[in-house]
Amino acid sequence: MDAEQLRECGHKMVDFIADYYKTIENFPVLSQVQPGYLHKLLPDSAPTHPDSLENLFDGEVLQLDIQTKILPGVTHWQSPNYFAYYPSNSSVAGFMGEMLSAGLNIVGFSWITSPAATELETVVLDWLGKMLKLPEDFLSAGQGGGVIQGTASEAILVVLLAARDKFLKKAGKNALEKLVVYASDQTHSALQKACQIAGIHPENCRLLRTDSSTNYALPPDVLNKAISSDVSNGFIPFFLCATVGTTSSTAIDPLSALGRIAKSHGMWFHVDAAYAGSACICPEYRQYIDGVEEADSFNMNAHKWLLTNFDCSALWIKDRNALIQSLSTNPEFLKNKASEANLVVDYKDWQIPLGRRFRSLKLWMVLRLYGVENLQSYLRNHINLAKHFEELVAKDSRFEIVTPRIFSLVCFRLLPACKDEALANKLNDDLLNAVNSTGKAFISHTVLSGKYVLRFAVGAPLTEEKHVNAAWSVLQEKASALLDP
Ligand code: PLP
Repeated sequence: MDAEQLRECGHKMVDFIADYYKTIENFPVLSQVQPGYLHKLLPDSAPTHPDSLENLFDGEVLQLDIQTKILPGVTHWQSPNYFAYYPSNSSVAGFMGEMLSAGLNIVGFSWITSPAATELETVVLDWLGKMLKLPEDFLSAGQGGGVIQGTASEAILVVLLAARDKFLKKAGKNALEKLVVYASDQTHSALQKACQIAGIHPENCRLLRTDSSTNYALPPDVLNKAISSDVSNGFIPFFLCATVGTTSSTAIDPLSALGRIAKSHGMWFHVDAAYAGSACICPEYRQYIDGVEEADSFNMNAHKWLLTNFDCSALWIKDRNALIQSLSTNPEFLKNKASEANLVVDYKDWQIPLGRRFRSLKLWMVLRLYGVENLQSYLRNHINLAKHFEELVAKDSRFEIVTPRIFSLVCFRLLPACKDEALANKLNDDLLNAVNSTGKAFISHTVLSGKYVLRFAVGAPLTEEKHVNAAWSVLQEKASALLDP
């Protein structure tokens, strides 16, 4: 590492990235390359001789490669015309935190390996927990605490493992095949994957049916029935995952009622608010996680909608020992006085891998450089833009809003002249492809009760009303072409 070279090239790289952001709208938001495009452009093996760092910018060889070979294959998640899936935010603050983390490049598995990494993580997750008004037992002063995972999938997996092991301790290790997991059919597939990894039998994963009558939220009586039937058949209900803001349509499971049921059966209750959790730092949206008091664990992704560059998934747990008992190892080569004396947190025991990045720097920078008020305004602005889009859709009688909008996602579809569902599905699939192939906007889809539905998620940091209007114009124009070719 040559510090002067880093200074020079680092400045140039920042210039390059700043220019990228300035011109981001010139790129098609959804990459238009064909599968395998890059294989054809790159040599079969790594270069024998090094390219000089100077070459990156001055010689322009590498820069040219980035522009002509890499960027065409990039889908521009930070484009203001990005409305697909859920957004993944970046910000100057998050970027600087990421840079500092890359610069320090520590591997903070135990407190001793970088005390600041562990302690800052504990502090910022307490801050964020307080912003969300999580119950005190989720904070680090008691038996609980927060930890940054890479993704919500990891967060769900680790709490499932903790719950599994807690139950197996009581019921005996041969009880694994009796353990049953409950969630709605709208729950993210991360839960299914976690079950696969945790050895929960696929047939013991109850994804309970939801429909439009509850706006795709899990009805407590459906859960009750499923649990009663399992108990009478000798199964052991052990884990319930509720979602606040489902991936398809932002459905909100009724946490209080579900939590009470989970508690009455001694089950572990997890709440996944990967996307919508951010909005709950606004007092008027906090109601959507009312009932989190009943939960054993709660996760939200700061990297989705809280201006923190990917990856930063926050997980809080009420009983940190449950995690530690399930995930800790203590090999000789990691032993140290602070850990042995039980004076410190060793986050290696709260996650799957050993190694971990200094991710809290990103969140810390974001919380400090924005402050809670600005973050709240940021979220409200997106929600207002989504409301504006919803109003535009509602004014055009060729379209229908499929589920009520709560946060910044609008679920809608185009209606064919005749009420044929198969035709409606094809029409909307065609509309999605027509819009996305323009490169002017990127939207995604889902299926709700057999209906193919378009999803318009506002949440890219650069999106303004003019971008929403422009995307709507493209949608209208393509809809007209499809309805009246
Ligand atoms: N849970 C919900 C509600 C989500 O919306 C998502 C992703 O969009 C996930 C979990 C999975 O997130 P991750 O990619 O962080 O694992």
